[in-house]
Amino acid sequence: MPDLPLADRMQHIDASGIRKVFDLAARLEDPINLSIGQPDFDVPDVCKERAIAAIREGVNRYTVTQGEAALREALAERLRAEFGACDAPVLVTSGVSGGLLLAFLATINPGDEVLVPDPYFVMYKHLVGLLGGVPVFVDTYPDFRLRREALEAAVTDRTRLLLLNSPANPTGAVMTPAELEAAVEVARRHDLLIVSDEIYDAYAYDGPAPSPWPMYDRVLLLRGFSKTFAMTGWRLGWAVGPEPIVSAMTTLQQYTFVCAPSPFQQAALAALETDPSPYIKAFRRRRDLVYEGLKERFSVARPGGAFYIFPKAPGGSGTAFVERAIEAGVLVIPGGVFSERDTHFRLAYTADEETIARGLEVLNRLADDA
Ligand code: PMP
Repeated sequence: MPDLPLADRMQHIDASGIRKVFDLAARLEDPINLSIGQPDFDVPDVCKERAIAAIREGVNRYTVTQGEAALREALAERLRAEFGACDAPVLVTSGVSGGLLLAFLATINPGDEVLVPDPYFVMYKHLVGLLGGVPVFVDTYPDFRLRREALEAAVTDRTRLLLLNSPANPTGAVMTPAELEAAVEVARRHDLLIVSDEIYDAYAYDGPAPSPWPMYDRVLLLRGFSKTFAMTGWRLGWAVGPEPIVSAMTTLQQYTFVCAPSPFQQAALAALETDPSPYIKAFRRRRDLVYEGLKERFSVARPGGAFYIFPKAPGGSGTAFVERAIEAGVLVIPGGVFSERDTHFRLAYTADEETIARGLEVLNRLADDA
């Protein structure tokens, strides 16, 4: 068969690391699954009701590109409640993933460098590479703190963007105000745009996670509904930031996603009236359970948010340890999927406490045998 027209850019995308894990996992009968990056609770009933009602009422057509006015106003109001005055434009996106793609399309030229704290959310590296941008990784091991010197040392005259993700996937690290101020100072000195992915903002266990938003006028803030309200499949997020950038993203949305799903934009209004704190409390208990349960035998940083923990793999290889874990029935993900290093593994505590406890028991046994 003649070559099919696969674009050269596909060479920048590699999903083999994670695929290998899933292939191994597919052979397991009843795995202890601690690999899932989404909450194990279901969408709040009021949101379901609102979505069903919207569909019945005929809210099934395109909305305006930037999203329903009522939803954008409610989101702006949230922002005002959190940070005070705000007249920056809001764009409703198809998940934070949609926001990230539009943001990168709008801002990255081939050859532009993007600072990516390592470990990182997988999508950053691949989307930046896809657009011809160059991800420049800023190492945050062993405690996953972003240091001013490391950041400053990574800046060149081609640097355009700094990606921040606090609370973070896969480490659960939450940036302190001092760390954020240092990062903002570096960004300000070099006129960088900060893209702040705050999809886990609700999952902060030791007080609210600070945001760079009020510190600097070149911040594009991305937030979402997927994690906070367990509606990952409904594809809803939002972006707010400097007008020229949000305006460019809106133009791009017009020619790509068109709009975020219309009935779920109605459901999002109901979500904003919902209090997710009972779930967050349960996740805080799980955070304590996993950290306390691993810290004796693993070298591990205490996560402050999100629903992940990122311990060092006994024996030194993330992949080798994860293969042993999977053979023992526990599904976790090798750190190399989220990092330029393959020395750690990611455990997602998106399972009930009993399942988590069983998983910890197996992992501790493996650590003893390492
Ligand atoms: N950012 C981070 C850090 C994430 O972990 C995820 C989901 N795993 C996303 C963005 C994308 O989320 P969504 O597109 O569902 O909003």
